[in-house]
Amino acid sequence: MTNDQLPVADPWFAITEVEPGLHRITEPHCVRLVRANCFLVKGTTHDLLVDSGMGVGRLRPALAPLLDKPLILFSTHAHLDHRGGHWEFPDAEILVHPAEAGDLRAPDAQKGLSFAQFAPDQRARLAAAGFDTQGWLVDAVPWRGYDLDGYRLEGAEPTRLVGEGDVVDIGSRRFTVLHLPGHSPGSIAVWEAETGTLIGGDAIYDGILIDDLPGGDVAAYVETMRRLAGLPVRVVHGGHRDSFGRERLAEIVRGYLESRGAA
Ligand SMILES: [Zn+2]
Ligand SMILES: [Zn+2]
Repeated sequence: MTNDQLPVADPWFAITEVEPGLHRITEPHCVRLVRANCFLVKGTTHDLLVDSGMGVGRLRPALAPLLDKPLILFSTHAHLDHRGGHWEFPDAEILVHPAEAGDLRAPDAQKGLSFAQFAPDQRARLAAAGFDTQGWLVDAVPWRGYDLDGYRLEGAEPTRLVGEGDVVDIGSRRFTVLHLPGHSPGSIAVWEAETGTLIGGDAIYDGILIDDLPGGDVAAYVETMRRLAGLPVRVVHGGHRDSFGRERLAEIVRGYLESRGAA
């Protein structure tokens, strides 16, 4: 397909301040499966960016008006829809769990913008779960002449490996790292106990939870869900879809556990 067949979407990113000092960044022209959320949290000593999207549009210039402190880039995991823009921030502190560090450094060169990259059985499962799995992962391009076939993930070098209990300090706010495996081995989230705020990555969001990609682990996911059910959450900002509160969290957890015969 030539690029001329898809419309240009400019700006590429949609940025919303969902609460004071916390911005959600998403890519409306990525298909549902890979339309992830990044979050920018403003602190007094650092800005904290959680994930970086697909790497289709240019994230850094889009965020430039909001960035005025040294940046901490926290990677919830190394899937393509959460780390594509990491390479744009070589001067940032880049945090990732050890189990995902290899993928962050040296991403799968086969990853492209076509659904053809998914194995047939994976595609069938995604289709059965209600995802559209034909054609491209985008329905627009960020600029005229964008080369869809030329899309590749770029590697990014982590500067700090983090896991359960580590602290991410941005001055006015302090987050604790939670290790929440199941979706992927090194899925991590940031938790601010003082405000009951969880930025959960793909461990938890208000949609179909995926535990059967390579590295997925149902037993680990069941444990993660039980743990989340006990967390005194006020708001969850998930890796996909809209943010939600504690009651909805309980429903999502219950739904997952029932679906896996673990309720
Ligand atoms: Zn995702
Ligand atoms: Zn993921």
